[in-house]
Amino acid sequence: MAADTIHHRTCPLCEASCGLELTIRDGAVLRIRGDRENALSKGFICPKGSALQRLHEDPDRLRAPVVRRGDDPATATWEEVSWDEAFAIVEEGLRGVQQRHGRNAVGAYFGNPGVHSLGAVMFNAPLIRAMGSMNIFSASTVDQMPKHVSSGYLFGNPLSIPVPDLDRTDLLLMLGANPYESNGSLCTAPDFPGRMRAIRERGGRIITVDPRNTRTAQNSDEWIPIRPGTDAHLLLAMLSVLFAEDLVDLGAIAEFTSGVAEVAAAVEPFTPERAAAITGVDAATIVRLARELAAADTATVYGRIGTHTVGFGTLASWATDALAICTGNMDTPGGMMFPLAAHESGRGKGRGRGFSTGRRHSRVRNYPEVRSEFPVAALAEEITTPGDGQIRALITVAGNPVLSTPSADRLDAALGELEFMVSVDPWCNETTRHANVILPPPSALERSDYHMAFFALAVHNFADWSGPLFPTESLQESDILARLALIVTGPEAGTDPQGLYDLMIDGALQSAIALPDSPIADRTVADLRRMVTADPSRMAVDHLLDIMIRTGAYGDWFGAVPDGLSLDVLAASPHGVDLGALEPRLPAMLRTASGTVELANPAILDDIARLDATSATPPDPDALVLIGRRDLRSNNSWMHNVNVLVKGKERCTLNIHPEDAARLGLVDGGEAEVASRVGRVVVPVEITGDILPGVVSIPHGWGHSLPGVRAGIASGRPGVNTNVLTDPEQLDPLSGNAVLNGIPVTVAPV
Ligand code: SF4
Repeated sequence: MAADTIHHRTCPLCEASCGLELTIRDGAVLRIRGDRENALSKGFICPKGSALQRLHEDPDRLRAPVVRRGDDPATATWEEVSWDEAFAIVEEGLRGVQQRHGRNAVGAYFGNPGVHSLGAVMFNAPLIRAMGSMNIFSASTVDQMPKHVSSGYLFGNPLSIPVPDLDRTDLLLMLGANPYESNGSLCTAPDFPGRMRAIRERGGRIITVDPRNTRTAQNSDEWIPIRPGTDAHLLLAMLSVLFAEDLVDLGAIAEFTSGVAEVAAAVEPFTPERAAAITGVDAATIVRLARELAAADTATVYGRIGTHTVGFGTLASWATDALAICTGNMDTPGGMMFPLAAHESGRGKGRGRGFSTGRRHSRVRNYPEVRSEFPVAALAEEITTPGDGQIRALITVAGNPVLSTPSADRLDAALGELEFMVSVDPWCNETTRHANVILPPPSALERSDYHMAFFALAVHNFADWSGPLFPTESLQESDILARLALIVTGPEAGTDPQGLYDLMIDGALQSAIALPDSPIADRTVADLRRMVTADPSRMAVDHLLDIMIRTGAYGDWFGAVPDGLSLDVLAASPHGVDLGALEPRLPAMLRTASGTVELANPAILDDIARLDATSATPPDPDALVLIGRRDLRSNNSWMHNVNVLVKGKERCTLNIHPEDAARLGLVDGGEAEVASRVGRVVVPVEITGDILPGVVSIPHGWGHSLPGVRAGIASGRPGVNTNVLTDPEQLDPLSGNAVLNGIPVTVAPV
């Protein structure tokens, strides 16, 4: 028997990006634990991380392409085929639709798991460009798009997202976030709970605003219950207090921040008393929160899913950052800060073209494009509504929109109307069961790994890369996406992805050589390409990543900067590389046309006026509204086919307050029918005092009871699909993000 070997890699199962230590025996994972020497996570691990190999070993995971035989997904069978056969069918299907109906007739949906895969992060964009279709959708519009839009307006770049400097702050004000269950989101912070404990141990304070008394709220100094969907009122009222009491102090960024006077005027009508009537947070508390924020030596304002997935999600997201700006807590240690990841250049002139939306509009309901995509809430209607530009074929890359997007049963039916569908996914799930062909990428242990999206959101600058742990017969995800890009480009593009790789590698090198004051201005593309591609065990994604890292903020510039970073350096650092505490990055990273932090973008001022107009209607005290909730052993719908993560007490339940349960005649453990404008579900009742009266909660990502899904364990514990209840017509207009929290519902005993 071979000796055990130890390997290190980053956990890909949530945004926290913990370092893992894997013990391998006889070609299989014997044990997974947290890597104590990892510079970012320091040994932290959660139950999902230690179950990583169960996903790899899942017998339901596809290891080869499959083709659906039969029209009805409920009764169809799946036949394994070779990669060449699969791509031939895809070529016929996609090109046929393009030829008959035009390029917009092929749409695409990109799911959340793709952000956790280096191959998808690198090659989704070339695929989108090659498609030449306006019908692009993603999970961003059921998640974080409001943050992109508010960052775009404030800083000129939708990817400039400030994170709370957790390790140095004195005050953490959180809204609609539950990192004890999620481990953090839009904020890469392994052991978020431990970092929260450290804040309190050093004398700081944590305040959590949430309709539920979550584990995060219970481990805070103060829980402030709030009515779902009203965070913008609370935050604007806090801003109005700051201006009314002359507490505004922008600190170091004052000289390059504009629009303060306009914001002061815009928020004036939002008094604490008015906000109290709408939010349920009393006026004295709102005033105190504003004063605490202004008085703290350092403070952070962190809003997440509960503030984003609502009708004023972008405005609430803007307001969290505006509060940090107005109290001198933006871009300063202990406040909200911008990470600088190893693959980022960190260069910038401090101004740019700014951010805008609406370069084109969706066909059926005229939604503006945001970051080159349309709201996923509009996907079903774009498939089912006849006319020029109707989607007739769909590419899905990861994700499960039949479970995760509004009016899910409508989308489920719409997918059945497509002429052709191809899915890049390792599972036959509720969405991919509609595909004609499923192309499975390798498991997380069979690919190389660098968390490009999440290191750019880390509370401490850090880099880590690992190569594949196990060999695979499968095509890498980058190869699959490159082949799809060639197919939709047209016959002239050929079928060999190497040409695309060469183009991308040479283009990246040429750009680096041509930079003003480039340290490699005297080098040639051919010379540098030889260096990048010298290791034959590395793949195209690794070559491209190597270029980004070598020419990034900490890079070695191909030897021109001694001791700089390269992929070789990361490969030789199994516990990752500590790149230091976050440092101020403004104004250099601004991309606004004015070269300032633009507090008063007209779109934001208009939305403040919209809030002013809509808040005239007081909330109905007898109405019930539905919110979601998160669980530590789950991440959207991905992990419900792993027994250790789903066993035990039923988790897909309706949380309801005892007063509401008594009024409605519900009993704990009984069943309730929950109905919204668009759908209804029957769900087990769980009565709890940890939720505000008038609010009920069901977790999302469940509903694995549809026929034709190949997920033995998940099908045995299906739960219900809460997105049957979410309304595709309720969106945040600035971002196109769906309203997933605060949905009016009725509840009755079954
Ligand atoms: S917290 Fe996230 S990254 Fe860390 S072990 Fe758990 S799932 Fe993995």
